[in-house]
Amino acid sequence: MGDPIQPVPPAGTQPTAAQPVLAQNVQANRPVCHCGYCRIRSLFGPIMIITVGVLFLVAQYSRYNFGELWPFLLIVAGILKVAEAMAPREGHPVS
Ligand SMILES: [Zn+2]
Repeated sequence: MGDPIQPVPPAGTQPTAAQPVLAQNVQANRPVCHCGYCRIRSLFGPIMIITVGVLFLVAQYSRYNFGELWPFLLIVAGILKVAEAMAPREGHPVS
């Protein structure tokens, strides 16, 4: 589909901008890591909030109340922790 906008650098040249961007974020005291472990970890809070909302919704429209549904929070949290433990940490900063 025509010429690419940015030419592809030949193999063996300098590394991409990924490492300078990470260093810049560390300098700004906001370390950003995109490894699988950190991604799942960062999703833990939002997924738990969504799960609480879904449980309240189910409690509203079913014969179950929240007192009977709350163990699903433990199940979801456990699944996320297992996924976190199994996630790859390639590229995760050591310190
Ligand atoms: Zn990481």
